[in-house]
Parts: sequence; C-alpha cells; structure tokens
Amino acid sequence: MPLVIVGSMAFDTIETPFAKRERVIGGACVYASLAASNFDTAHIVGVVGDDFTQEHMNILEERKIDTSGVKKSPGKSFFWAGKYNQDMKTRETITTELNVFEKFEPELPEKYRDIPFLFLANIDPKLQMKVLNSMRRLKFTVCDTMDLWINIKKQELTEVFKRVDCVVLNDEEIRLFTGKDNVMHGAAEIQKLGPKYVIIKKGEHGSCLSGQGIYFSLPSYPVDNVVDPTGAGDSFAGAFTGYLAKTGKTDAATLKRAIAYGNTVASFTVEDFSIDGLLKIRTKDIENRMNEIKKMVNF
Ligand code: AMP
Repeated sequence: MPLVIVGSMAFDTIETPFAKRERVIGGACVYASLAASNFDTAHIVGVVGDDFTQEHMNILEERKIDTSGVKKSPGKSFFWAGKYNQDMKTRETITTELNVFEKFEPELPEKYRDIPFLFLANIDPKLQMKVLNSMRRLKFTVCDTMDLWINIKKQELTEVFKRVDCVVLNDEEIRLFTGKDNVMHGAAEIQKLGPKYVIIKKGEHGSCLSGQGIYFSLPSYPVDNVVDPTGAGDSFAGAFTGYLAKTGKTDAATLKRAIAYGNTVASFTVEDFSIDGLLKIRTKDIENRMNEIKKMVNF
C-alpha cells in the first residue's frame, strides 16, 4: 500500500566539529520519503522555490517518489543552518529562513486522498490538521513535531495528536509537552489523548514503542563514524511508516519490525552528509544490517 508524506523540503547548511557543508539538500519530507522509498511508493506534499531544480527533483523521482503534490513557488526554498556540538547529538539552529514555506498551504492531489498510510512530518499543526481533513481512508497515521510547535501551538498540536495513531517524539519533547519528568509517564499521558502508540526516539540509544499493552525497545545500530545526524529522526519515521505501508499491517509483530527498519535506515543516514548516506543503500544493505541488529539483541 502506498503512503503520503507531508513536510519540509529544504536546503541545509550543516556544520559539525569536523566538517561543513553549505546548502545541501534536506528537509524532513526529503529524508522521510527517501527512507520510505526502500519499502513502498511515497507520495509527497511540500513546497519548493526556484532554487530547487528539476535535477533535485530527479533525485526523488529516480527513487519512484511521486512528487505531484510538491508545489513550486517563486522565491527561495526553506533554508536551515545548524551546528552540532562535540557530542554530535546536540545542535544549535543558526538560521531558519522560511522563504516559500511561510505561505505553504498543503494541497493534496485527488489521487492522494484515499491512500491509507500517512506520515505528518514536523510542520505547523494547523497544516497537519488540514492534511488530516483532506484524507478519506486513513488506516494508520504517524505524526512528528518539534519544540517550537509545543511552545507556541500546543492546543492545535493536541487536536492533531487526538486524530493520529502514533506520535513520534524524543524524550525532551515528551517532557516539554506533558511536563512529566518520567518519559514513560509522559508517553502514557499522550496516549490518553488518543494515539494508540507513542514512539520515543532516543538518538544513539535507539527507540521505544509504547501502547496497546506493548513495550518494545530497540538500540540503534552502533555506527562506527557519525558524520551528520541531520534527518535521522525523519529517516526513522519514513522507514517505519514505509514498512507498515509495504506490509499493509499494523499488528504488534509488524510494528516491532518497523521500528527495527526505522533504526536501520536512520543508521545509514548519519554515516554521511545530507541525503548521501540514504542514496547509497539498497535493499541488501538494509537486510544485512537488520540481521546484525537481530543478532545483537538476541539473548
Ligand atoms: P532532524 O535532524 O530529523 O530533526 O531533521 C532535520 C531536517 O529538518 C533538516 O533537513 C531541516 O531542513 C528540517 N527542519 C529544520 N527546522 C525545521 C522547521 N522549523 N520546520 C520544518 N523543517 C525543519
């Protein structure tokens, strides 16, 4: 089954303690759709400016990603610059230029509206709600957000959470949203709003799925050399939703395997700058790493 992904399409300038890359391709929708494309057809919704050329679009289209829901507006694409600290985990946002993203109103092509799987990447909850209202036959929706929306649009975000099946957050976002120090208590509070599942992203420590009587925790693949962590969360969520879409199932065993695929694909993202790590991989690489993870956690 196909899936729809909505989110930012961007150019990023990324600085780590070891290197810097200027205006490389990025954005949550780009990372998530490339990750999902390893499993099923991603139909994306986003906005780009004149600087996002057909050559950039070809990168996505070559992976069979449907870009018919991407709007091209006059002006520049969304631009984000970030600088990672020595730990290669925490980062500072240096610049956010919304550009064409400022007036973004997602418009879904008619053919997208009956697609059963949806990943709402980090965008204004008002727009996430608009997309939810445009979809007619949703089977499973996954939703991401960020501290900005928790701080300035908590009520709108709460309304979105009430309508989705699974919320993907890191532990700090759970604490910020719920005010609970204990992340598991926070996750339980979010579930009370409606989502069946909460996925807690823990960066290099992997991720946990909680809900419907399931508690499942899986470490990240131990990457030798983290080059650029940007987009790891989006790659995780794209692969997670992509795998569910591919199987068409959302039972406990499938959700657990989807978590493992999410961790695996994200581990390739962080091994190179921008989307380069994602572009290198083929199904065989993913399956090999999945098997390594399986061995790692078997005792
Ligand atoms: P992640 O590392 O998973 O948090 O995702 C990083 C990606 O999110 C980058 O490629 C950015 O272009 C994009 N991004 C950063 N800030 C925002 C924002 N305020 N809204 C939407 N996307 C953003």
